[in-house]
Amino acid sequence: MNTKVTASAKEAARILLKNDLVAFPTETVYGLGANIFSESAIDEIYRVKGRPADNPLIAHVSNLTELVILVKRIPAKAELLIDAFFPGPLTLVLQKSRYVPSNVTGGLDTIGIRMPSNSVAQFFLKECGVTVAAPSANLSGRPSPTTWKAAKAELNGLIGAILKGDQSQVGLESTIIDCTRKTPVLLRSGAIGLERLRKVIPEITVRASNSENTPKSPGQKYRHYAPNAKVVLIDHPSEITDYSKAAFIGLDFPVDPGNAIIKICASIDEYAFRLFDFFRECEYNQIETIYCQRVSENGIGLALMDRLIRAAHG
Ligand code: AMP
Ligand code: MG
Repeated sequence: MNTKVTASAKEAARILLKNDLVAFPTETVYGLGANIFSESAIDEIYRVKGRPADNPLIAHVSNLTELVILVKRIPAKAELLIDAFFPGPLTLVLQKSRYVPSNVTGGLDTIGIRMPSNSVAQFFLKECGVTVAAPSANLSGRPSPTTWKAAKAELNGLIGAILKGDQSQVGLESTIIDCTRKTPVLLRSGAIGLERLRKVIPEITVRASNSENTPKSPGQKYRHYAPNAKVVLIDHPSEITDYSKAAFIGLDFPVDPGNAIIKICASIDEYAFRLFDFFRECEYNQIETIYCQRVSENGIGLALMDRLIRAAHG
């Protein structure tokens, strides 16, 4: 299949509505979208990515009226989160309606809903006129693409189109909150940190990090975010003794890195923004070891450490 790269949201939407797959920009990472009501297009997402069938997709909406068809009910606490954080990098897990094909949610009776704030994503979703189901636009287990070029490197020839946009502003996947229980639970950390969430719902709990097989968030049990190089976490770049075929990303300057590839970030936000793109740059340069500096787990730091730990264990 020839993959069309286009800057036209209208053209990308036309391709999606022909039941083809379209990679599109969002503020978190690039998504790989299909019409949520097309079972064959949804199957194609799993096939193209090599994604396990029990790893659910996220429903991307441009308008809250779409929820009427997608979910059974919106609990009061979910409404508070919607008021505070939609549109934005937050996914809410709600009870799924019977109208959504079960392959979208990996057979679960719940569904993740997100309304992206990225303007190109919003244009695209409006042009589609249907809810778009999408995981990240990478092959299963790999780092998520944060640029259209990275989406192309992963999926060229396998999907209908790539909608061009800027580099994803956040650079990490959305925060996910399970709103189907009395007390909402953080299933995956993201740009909207626990501190901000607790200002709206003080009692939010965090899913125990060792419960990898919790059925509520099945996708989290799989290999994730791993580049073709070994990822090693360190507290400070002074721990690096050998820079041959090695690279470093973090907040502090290494003492004597020679001409190694290094990325010093001015903040944890910038670190999150650059991480996955840096992984790809290292792959391109055939780096064998990527040293990543640990950060404190405040704000987006919690999400960044989650991705770093998973990448290191990949
Ligand atoms: P990705 O966009 O590639 O990060 O994949 C979407 C992720 O969202 C999945 O791997 C799950 O962890 C999570 N997710 C989507 N729908 C649900 C759901 N109904 N319940 C729990 N987690 C979900
Ligand atoms: Mg993903």
